[in-house]
This record gives sequence, C-alpha cells and structure tokens, in this order.
Amino acid sequence: MSATTKTGPGERMLELWAEIQDLNRATALLQWDQETYMPEGGHAGRASSLSTLAGIHHAKITSPELRDALEDAAASAEDGSVLAAQVREARRHIERSAKIPADLAKALADAASRGLGKWQAARKADDFSIFRDALAEIVNLRIQAAKAIDPSGDAYDTLIDEYEPGAKSARIAEVFDGLRKELSPLVQAVRESGKVIDESPAQGHFPADTQKAFGLEVAKAMGFDFEQGRLDAAAHPFCSGFGPGDVRLTWRWQEDDFRPALYGIMHEAGHGLYEQGLPMDWQGTPIGGAVSMAVHESQSRLWENLVGRSRAFWEWILPTFHKHFPEKAGVTVDQIYPALHTVKPSLIRVEADEATYNLHIVVRFEIERRLIAGEIGIDDLPGVWDELYEEMLGVRAPSAADGVLQDIHWAMGAFGYFPTYALGNLVNAQLFETIEKELGPQAPNFAKGDFAPLLTILREKIHARGSFLLADDLIEEATGAPLSSEPFMRYIRKVTEEVYGV
Ligand code: ZN
Repeated sequence: MSATTKTGPGERMLELWAEIQDLNRATALLQWDQETYMPEGGHAGRASSLSTLAGIHHAKITSPELRDALEDAAASAEDGSVLAAQVREARRHIERSAKIPADLAKALADAASRGLGKWQAARKADDFSIFRDALAEIVNLRIQAAKAIDPSGDAYDTLIDEYEPGAKSARIAEVFDGLRKELSPLVQAVRESGKVIDESPAQGHFPADTQKAFGLEVAKAMGFDFEQGRLDAAAHPFCSGFGPGDVRLTWRWQEDDFRPALYGIMHEAGHGLYEQGLPMDWQGTPIGGAVSMAVHESQSRLWENLVGRSRAFWEWILPTFHKHFPEKAGVTVDQIYPALHTVKPSLIRVEADEATYNLHIVVRFEIERRLIAGEIGIDDLPGVWDELYEEMLGVRAPSAADGVLQDIHWAMGAFGYFPTYALGNLVNAQLFETIEKELGPQAPNFAKGDFAPLLTILREKIHARGSFLLADDLIEEATGAPLSSEPFMRYIRKVTEEVYGV
C-alpha cells in the first residue's frame, strides 16, 4: 500500500500549506523584531534574510506539486465544505503569486523600494514633483500586475482583493456614498456650532511606565491573554499573530496626553483578541487566519471606540485611572467623556477623530478608483486631493507634505488598502448593534469591567470562523444584513449630539 492511499482528500495540500505558513510566521517574526528590538546595524542582514525567505515562499507557493495537490483537493471538495473553503483560499493565494511573472514581481519590489526613498525626499522638500515619476511607475506596474492576475477583471477590484478578498469597488462606492452624504453635513454642523471641547482632562503629565501599567490592566480586563502574548514598544503600533498561542502587541505613548497610548493599546489588543481567538484546528491551513483587513479593523475599532470611549467603560475604569494618575484625581466621567469624542476636521488622517476619519478614507478611495481606471493621471493628484478635502472636510492643505504626500501606502505600492480602514469602522458598528440586540445593552457589563459576554460572542461570530467564509458573507451571517453605513451613522449621530448638541 502506498503512502498516498492513507491520506484523505486535501491532506497533501494542507501539508504543503503548513510549510508555507511556517515561512510566513518566520517572516512575521523577523519583521516584528525589526520594529521592536533589532539594533540599527541589523538592517542589511535582515533585508537579506527577508528576501531569501520571500524567494523560498514564492518557490513553494508556485510549485507544481502544490498546484497538483490543490487540483486533487478541488476534485473532491463538496460545495460548502471546509475543504472547499481551503481550496478557495489556497487558490486565491497561489494565483496571486503564480500569475505575476518573475520580472514583473522584481520590478514591483524595486519600484516600491525606490518609491519609498523618493516619497521621503518629496515629503521633506514638500515637493510632489520629486515623487511624481516613481509614483507613476508604481501605479503602472500595479495595474500590470492586476491585469496579470485577472485579465478580464476590474484592476482596482483585483488590487483591493489582496486585502479584502471578494470585495468589489462598486459595492464599496455605494456604501461610502451613503456615508459621505450623511457624515459631511454632520461634520459641517459641528464646525458651525463653534463649540470647542475642553480637552484638559486628558492632558497633563503621564509617565510612560504608569501608562503601560494602566494599558496592561485594561488589555487584561478585555480578555487579552498575556500567557499567549506580549506588549512591547514600537515607533508605529501594530499587532503580529504567529498563531493563537503567540500574539504580539506594540504600543507608543505621549507623556502629555494619555489618549494615544490607552487607545493604541486597546486598538491593538482588539486585533490581538481576534488572533488569539482564531480556530486552533485550522492553524497553518489556508482558512486558519483572519478573514480580511476590514474585519480585523472592525475588531480593533470596536474595543477602542465602542468599548473604550463609552461612558460605562469610564465609570468602571475611573478609579483605576485615578490610582495610576493621582494628578487627575478630581477628574470625572462627565469631564473626560467629551474629550474622547472631539470632532475636528483636520488635514492628517492618522490624527483624525472617529467621525472625520472615514472622510479621509473616502477621499483616498475616490482618488485610487479614478487613478487606476485612468480617469485621472498622476499630475492631477495634488489638485484632486485638495479639491476632495475641501469638498468633504472643508479644509485645504497648505502644503503637499500635509496633503497628497502624507501617507506611506502609495509609495509602497499598496493601492486598495485604504478602504479597509473605513469598512472596518462600519463593520464594527453594525456588529455591535447586532450584539446588543441579541445580548441586550452592554453598558451595565462594561460599567462592572465585565467584557466576557462581548468577547464570547465575538469569538463565536467572528474569531472562531477563521476564513471559512468570505468577509461579506461572514458579516451577513454575523449581523443578518449586508454591510451598511447606517449603524455607524446612528452611533456617531448619538455621540455628536451628546457632546456637541448637534
Ligand atoms: Zn488596526
């Protein structure tokens, strides 16, 4: 009897996939280390290691052996089965890698690395023209890559698919349209109210060590398991999961304001809870990971905003806050709450509040869509950027550095990534509305520091599902409806009314 007769359908594919996942984990660990502990002198050696791993990864994922194993698995996968989902996800990854010719892949990597340097120089000099040619090349190569992956498909959809499998730009445009039509006037009304929030309850002196202790206490209460994870400092906060048993969070802080650290930690711990809740049985398989960037972002934003900025959460945490920061001993929930919900149309996305943030994304989505479709060219970008900011946020950047040059994404070739940020905000509101319908209001639990009911239902509805379904289908299964901007608008209208009276 040959060895193959003992293996069930799809087993060979999963064996080969497990090796690919091991390479992914090794890569992610090297990247985590690079952002946290690697000394300055490590860059050259690290780049070489990462490039070698990427080469081995490409060879394995495009190997004829895996392709055969995939087709064998596909032949015996029944519709709707776990194996069918494994095949769907494996095929998507394999085709994305295999259909891009090696010389195009190399040109893309080179262009992105040059683009990054040009972008930095252009930002520093506040001069878009320095970045112009590099960006034109990146856009051109990304469109070529999209066409190589799916010759008949919409190029922007193909680019989005890398971050949000199955998502379509026409559908996203519909959802964003609903959002901007309501959000823009609301932001306008806040501006016209002329009301300025007193943010001093959130400002003062907050030592880094104490902020860390405070953040750890909150993350533990959320249910993040520090036996299966850790928290370290990094310049740009992120979360890396190497499987449910090893999830790394990073954070940064500002000594004069506790909000960036607390909400950064809650945000990353929200990502981390998703990673810790992924199904153990599917580890190392094509459907073992998070389903999409938007759903990942929905988890982080849910904890950060809907939990962490709620009145009930502050009723619970206030004594702990006082204990850690005696300087703030007199501060009340009523004083802190408005400072957590300021609405200030601004130029910079990463500093935007929860209301205006989505409009920053809609601007970028509009631009990417038109650019990839060829409706606008590279030279139109600075102008279109400023026009859209004026139209949606009522602000105009005094310089390219604070305008079209502010984000790193395009320099890296990441087109189609931005929409996932706003989609995540919409998913989290829709999900939380459903959860409160099913479990009842969560405020009484939050006020006791009891987040277990919330985490339990997130585990059931989202975390434990891995990538068995496509994101859209998972959202519909979890909430009973397709994604809509309405729940988010209901939330943001309620909060703005409380804080600004508009
Ligand atoms: Zn995030």
